[in-house]
Amino acid sequence: MSASDLKALIDAADRVVVFTGAGISTESGIPDFRSPGGVWSRMKPIQFQDFVRSEDMRREAWTRVFNKTAGWTGASPNAGHHAVASLIASGKARAVITQNVDNLHQDSGIPPEQVIELHGNASYATCLSCGARHELEELEPGFVERGEIPLCFHCAGLLKTATISFGQPMPEGPMARAEAETLAADLFIVVGSSLAVRPAADFPVVAKQNGARLVILNREETPLDGIADLVIRGEIGPVLSAAIPD
Ligand code: NAD
Repeated sequence: MSASDLKALIDAADRVVVFTGAGISTESGIPDFRSPGGVWSRMKPIQFQDFVRSEDMRREAWTRVFNKTAGWTGASPNAGHHAVASLIASGKARAVITQNVDNLHQDSGIPPEQVIELHGNASYATCLSCGARHELEELEPGFVERGEIPLCFHCAGLLKTATISFGQPMPEGPMARAEAETLAADLFIVVGSSLAVRPAADFPVVAKQNGARLVILNREETPLDGIADLVIRGEIGPVLSAAIPD
């Protein structure tokens, strides 16, 4: 199965949704979770409750942010991101639903309101008390030069990168928007996800049950390959660039 089969399905579709995982960003140099050398083989995730409870855990979390252990920030979008952006710009796709936290869909030119982030965003921080947004560059000198754990400039509440950590509830607004887009789609394209993380991995199942065609593009097998209309085992950048011309 090839890029031309994907192009034919896109041409025939009225409303496409693209659903992305960490795999779309590996060609930008950001490791995924489950491949060898992936993030969790190098560091243990910090549970949300531990972050809130323990100053040591907050110090560890902010150390990882500023020494770039996870490598989620500072990369540039690749050919796969640009192909998805072209599909959105053409009007064929109305939104990209992403599990990624790296901001690369927005960096590729997709308007932020068309990027639905299920697991938040690591490129800025929010206050856990009042929700105010803070830029990492504003927080870095206090932590790196003086060892101060960042607190909200407005209410002194705890600040955390705007990601959804293990143990934190899924964000209601993005989940509702992702469901609405999934139900409106007649073609649902999964790109670079092991489909191992729920509830995110439920969206392709919902799309299929609702009558959409389902495409899975991943270099290795996924648990949903059996229900897909098209499975492409290949590298994301080359396949998407061939299927979605500029
Ligand atoms: P995952 O690591 O579980 O799966 C990624 C999949 O992509 C793997 O099956 C891998 O074989 C495949 N893949 C990697 N590079 C590829 C390429 N170039 N071409 C084709 N296939 C490729 O990731 P997931 O399904 O997104 O779920 C894990 C969680 O990882 C998500 O919750 C996400 O928040 C988080 N995460 C995000 C980032 C990021 O923002 N870039 C990075 C690491 C992890």
